[in-house]
Amino acid sequence: MAEAAYRVAIVGGGFSGAMLAARLAETGIASVLINDGAEIGLGVAYSTAFEGHLLNVRSGRMSAVEGRPDDFVAWLRTNRPALADPIDFAPRKVYGDYVRDRLATVEAAFPGRIQRVPGRAVAMGDGAVQLTDGCTIPADAVVLATGNPAPATASGEVGGRVIGDPWAVGALDRIEPDDSILIIGTGLTMVDMIQSLLAQGWKGRATALSRRGLLPRAHAATPDLPADLPAEALTGPVSNRLAAARSTICASGWRGVMEAYRPITADLWAAADVDQRARMVRHLRPWWDVHRHRIAPRIAETLTGLVASRRLRVVAGRLGVVETDRDGVWAGWSPRAGGAQPPLTANWLIDCTGPAHSPATDPLTAPLLASGRARLDPLGLGLDLDASGRVLDARGVADPRLFVLGPPARAAFWETIAVPDIRKRIEGVVAALT
Ligand SMILES: Cc1cc2nc3c(=O)[nH]c(=O)nc-3n(C[C@H](O)[C@H](O)[C@H](O)COP(=O)(O)OP(=O)(O)OC[C@H]3O[C@@H](n4cnc5c(N)ncnc54)[C@H](O)[C@@H]3O)c2cc1C
Repeated sequence: MAEAAYRVAIVGGGFSGAMLAARLAETGIASVLINDGAEIGLGVAYSTAFEGHLLNVRSGRMSAVEGRPDDFVAWLRTNRPALADPIDFAPRKVYGDYVRDRLATVEAAFPGRIQRVPGRAVAMGDGAVQLTDGCTIPADAVVLATGNPAPATASGEVGGRVIGDPWAVGALDRIEPDDSILIIGTGLTMVDMIQSLLAQGWKGRATALSRRGLLPRAHAATPDLPADLPAEALTGPVSNRLAAARSTICASGWRGVMEAYRPITADLWAAADVDQRARMVRHLRPWWDVHRHRIAPRIAETLTGLVASRRLRVVAGRLGVVETDRDGVWAGWSPRAGGAQPPLTANWLIDCTGPAHSPATDPLTAPLLASGRARLDPLGLGLDLDASGRVLDARGVADPRLFVLGPPARAAFWETIAVPDIRKRIEGVVAALT
């Protein structure tokens, strides 16, 4: 690698890490991209080979580069013209091709500025990252872009008839067409798994359980204009904001309200005190998530069809004890509505509870917390960060050489999961490093 004045180690080569490396290279900063997962640039979201897994954001909003809003659609026009409709939802696999292509283009334009290192980072010393194979990567700054970890096991055990990591390669291979399935979680991961199962010829029935039994809402056929939010929807107690937002729905529709909140969510989150954040997380979050992270209309139609034909049953309640044998699973549960119900039984249980962020047990971040180099945010959502994504130490002082980017940065930004939010955060990190 060419000698560089400054070198950044990026841990995680999904969308966040890869697109940060590209932006750093464009601004003259060299980076080492350490990744142990799927091919660099893809991560969990875009490594699917199945074209039926669609983006859940319209293509026109999926540019990987802040300030170049048409970048993805322009790429589609050149490379996949039949998919170049900005209001449509392109396959995630195609988006992965775009991300890889952008990275490769930048690498070709700035040779030596990005070094790809396969491997898993397990520790961070002073000015270096250590990998499982014992290699040490020296760096002037480190960015943790470790993304979406596998779900924690909702059922308490994995293996046999319990599929603990639905994103693992071949996770659903053993499911037969007529098998019955119990899915824990009713969010986007569940929706993904249903799509995969249908694509592999599954014809059975499924029950999906979550605390509230809420399904992700659908995008409208065409983009929604942001509502004009009243001042009361932006300041004051969370319950008052909710009431003000609800009253706006009559005029603008709920999607318009969500569109209005979308670009300012991180600012509102940053301005909120701990009590307001706690109330949002405790009471509003499930509702926020299903309205904010919507699915493509085509996918929503499929789900509606499955529910109508009773192939998919969605139930609200709390998972109890799970037992398994060689033929299936029995899951005790307490319905949200109260009362007792017989156990949910199925041939398979799939854990779709979503990424399990756990900085206190992650080997990379746990020592930082133990030594006071980092601290958790007051709600325990993740590492406490400043407005640029720099890690705050136990005294609240930002480390100018240690950053978190992407989904694990949610304690600071709340919405930092989807591409439109991450690409903004990338600019924040680039600005701080330059
Ligand atoms: C199934 C799914 C679908 C999605 N669909 C969309 C969508 O349509 N539109 C949208 O905007 N967003 C979508 N998202 C949100 C998604 O979070 C972002 O789009 C984006 O992919 C996040 O990328 P990331 O690099 O931060 O994380 P990830 O994609 O999770 O990548 C992190 C990478 O870091 C690696 N890694 C982790 N720890 C280490 C370590 N210690 N050492 C080395 N490597 C490590 C992992 O193996 C992985 O390759 C989706 C998410 C999921 C899970």
